[in-house]
Amino acid sequence: MPKSALVTGAAGFLGSHLTDRLLGEGNFVLGVDNLSTGGSANLAHLANDSRFSFEERDICTAFDPGRVDTVFNLASPASPPEYLRLGIETLRVGSVGVENTLQIAAKYGAGYLQASTSECYGDPLEHPQPETYWGNVNPVGPRSVYDEAKRFGEAMVMAYHRSRAVDTRIARIFNTYGPRLHPGDGRVISNFIMQALRGEPLTIYGDGSQTRSFCYVDDLIEGIVLLSRSEEHLPVNLGNPEEFTILDCAKAVLEVTGSESQLSYIDLPVDDPTRRRPDIAKARALLAWEPRVGLMEGLRKSLQFFRSKL
Ligand code: NAD
Ligand code: UDP
Repeated sequence: MPKSALVTGAAGFLGSHLTDRLLGEGNFVLGVDNLSTGGSANLAHLANDSRFSFEERDICTAFDPGRVDTVFNLASPASPPEYLRLGIETLRVGSVGVENTLQIAAKYGAGYLQASTSECYGDPLEHPQPETYWGNVNPVGPRSVYDEAKRFGEAMVMAYHRSRAVDTRIARIFNTYGPRLHPGDGRVISNFIMQALRGEPLTIYGDGSQTRSFCYVDDLIEGIVLLSRSEEHLPVNLGNPEEFTILDCAKAVLEVTGSESQLSYIDLPVDDPTRRRPDIAKARALLAWEPRVGLMEGLRKSLQFFRSKL
């Protein structure tokens, strides 16, 4: 039977893909977004879909969307330059916004999924990172506006689960990329692809030896949907365990684009994590989920979108 979902952050990269997926299964979706880092262009293709509606609003102000079966809370700036620009807004959406959306789930007895992040692990001392690792986060550094908001959000979700019996889930999402990743929001894959397509130097922060593990968007969305239908209330890592140095990532982008761009080295941002790789044993066991798309294939699948943004 079709269900109705509230998706916050629906005009963003992941929110718009999740919305497509839910509508594709025949569900009804109310998308909510304040358009601070996302854009309505990501939802333009749904203009004539009678099962989709959209409200421009800030989830930091309490609201009542009417009865919904599931709340997917994805609203939050997500790229480092954006959450540094919107520091206070990021802290507020990760605290007040999370609580407002939990209250909707509590009122309607709805399921709830919080989009949390590998950033909860900070600059991890354990590698790869299992969900049981508590993290190594600078609580007052520049990234703290995002990291601590997301950690607080997880605590708030668990409190609503424990004290108000809300049926919650927490996805700890690792770096995800694909079409609709904002070409100008400063994340590494979008920066590198746009620079490569323009023939500009690829900007390597630091010496490029830091690592990340990149998940293609379709794989991530599959994991989110499976998690939302599971019975697990503690956090679950969702990401691709293939780990790359940032230098490897730049080389992969040059190969896939056929670009002859040079590399330019600039300062590493403060507290930039040195390594990141999910231990996905829990997701494998619980959801029978694992990513299928490797980095080269995912980059190829993303090219057309970024070309259209030149
Ligand atoms: P995005 O910036 O493309 O999407 C976030 C959306 O939230 C935007 O459309 C923005 O306008 C909206 N938003 C922000 N504050 C809001 C508010 N107060 N009220 C209503 N809407 C608001 O980023 P994304 O990559 O799609 O990230 C989506 C979620 O997934 C975020 O919560 C992010 O922290 C989490 N996440 C993403 C990644 C990733 O690699 N993409 C990794 C870890 C976690
Ligand atoms: N990075 C880079 N060049 C860029 C953008 C990012 O070298 O143009 C690096 C950044 O310093 C970090 C990694 O790539 O080590 C991933 O950055 P991103 O902002 O995509 O996400 P993060 O995992 O840091 O939140």
